[in-house]
Amino acid sequence: MIQIKDLHKSYHMGSNSLHVLKGINFDVKEGELVSIMGSSGSGKSTLLNILGMLDEADEGSYVLDNVPIKNLNEKVAAKYRNEFLGFIFQSFNLINYKTAVDNVALPMYYKGMSRKERVEKAHHYLEKVGLADWSHHLPSELSGGQKQRVAIARALASEPKVLLADEPTGALDSKTSYEVMDLIQGINDEGKTILVVTHEDDIAQMTKRIVNLKDGIIIDDSLVEQVRAQQYV
Ligand code: ADP
Ligand code: MG
Repeated sequence: MIQIKDLHKSYHMGSNSLHVLKGINFDVKEGELVSIMGSSGSGKSTLLNILGMLDEADEGSYVLDNVPIKNLNEKVAAKYRNEFLGFIFQSFNLINYKTAVDNVALPMYYKGMSRKERVEKAHHYLEKVGLADWSHHLPSELSGGQKQRVAIARALASEPKVLLADEPTGALDSKTSYEVMDLIQGINDEGKTILVVTHEDDIAQMTKRIVNLKDGIIIDDSLVEQVRAQQYV
């Protein structure tokens, strides 16, 4: 589903430049649940933004669902982004004056779906994340965990091939974090390919594979069951 080879990225600020990704290689197969783990500043969001086609690498190659992602014009990039990718963020990014169901329905508007179809789908996905009874509530009336569930329903509603989550539990307490990760595991069980960025080891342990990033390099890439087996040796 995803192939990246020797990805490099630097940020330039005046005469200074910061080499953030220093040759990243990895593949993600369809149906995987992978975490990208590393401390703050290690380049996780930079990498996820490139995978999400929100930013471009300086060097290296990226193939998403057999499509080489390079030098696409913004219109084509937006088309692939909308077709292939769903996003979940730490800060939920919901629209405050819209109800849960309208938040979930909104991206489908841009796909040209009828209002009836949008609302039906939005209800379906809200039910899926356990919020059937909350569809007409505003974000301000929902808990953090519920807001993230709305955001997950919104991401799913576009039926993406890959879900990209940047610190999806970063604004949640531990118990709520585990509940949200349970939900993400359930979505993966149904076959969705999911990448989760996190700096928390216990969250990464709830995925199936941990890609460990440090100072812009992958220092480890292991299946969680292997990591666990090693801990008990
Ligand atoms: P992480 O998500 O792992 O915390 P980031 O990818 O956000 O790391 O950032 C990696 C490094 O790049 C940090 O030192 C950060 O300050 C820097 N950085 C991130 N985005 C930008 C930007 N748009 N311009 C300049 N520097 C940036
Ligand atoms: Mg980050």
